[in-house]
Amino acid sequence: MHPHLKPLIELQAVDFRLIGIRERLAQFPKRLAEVEARVTAAKQQVAAAKESLLTGQKERKTYEMDVEQWKERAKKYRGQSGEVKSNEAYKALLHEIQNAEDEIAKAEDRLLERMVSGEEYDRQVKAAEIKVKEIEAVAGKERQTIQAEYNAAQKELTAAEAARAATMKAVPEDLVDHYERIAKRHGGIALAEIRGEGCGQCGVHIRPHVIQQLQRENNEGFFHCETCTRILYYPAPPGHSATSAAATVSAGDPPATPVQGN
Ligand SMILES: [Zn+2]
Repeated sequence: MHPHLKPLIELQAVDFRLIGIRERLAQFPKRLAEVEARVTAAKQQVAAAKESLLTGQKERKTYEMDVEQWKERAKKYRGQSGEVKSNEAYKALLHEIQNAEDEIAKAEDRLLERMVSGEEYDRQVKAAEIKVKEIEAVAGKERQTIQAEYNAAQKELTAAEAARAATMKAVPEDLVDHYERIAKRHGGIALAEIRGEGCGQCGVHIRPHVIQQLQRENNEGFFHCETCTRILYYPAPPGHSATSAAATVSAGDPPATPVQGN
């Protein structure tokens, strides 16, 4: 293996970790916003229920006044009944009294309706307030969990950044530049291990002599995938100390099998 490949593989492993950590960190504002949105929605429910309750109370007062006014009027008409001179006027007065009685009955019906719906609004306000408390309690725990996870991720980030700085020291500067240029174009992944007979990243077939070259202990050359331009390396067999970082890179893949038919 090329002497600089090992630290590059380690660098790639650290960068993989960094990508994952940064992706997780980027999710935190969204996760927090979701929690806050639930609390806000619950509070809005309370506000809406209170608004309905208040409107109901205002209407109730209006209807109470209506009842009182029509009662006053009916009383006034009845008081006038002794003063009427003609039959016609008496009939008209009776009609007014009847009308006032009807209006009293209507206003009382409306008032009763409002009293019933007022009780319902009152229940809704209380239920919504209980719900807010429940949601607040859950949100409080979620905020703590998210904060703890955020702190942990920040620590991981600091550690990974330190590890990256340390690893970079083992790689010549121009090679780091080369690595980073490729990484930038390919989602942070500049290295590709050989998988079977192909590039482990883009899957294109790699010429056998390149693979043979990469397998050599004393290989001094750098090879790039002709399609995705990533730096190629041959994964060492599992347990090989030199590729502990490479094992992290290709975690989840089956261990490399020896070349068959030789
Ligand atoms: Zn490739």
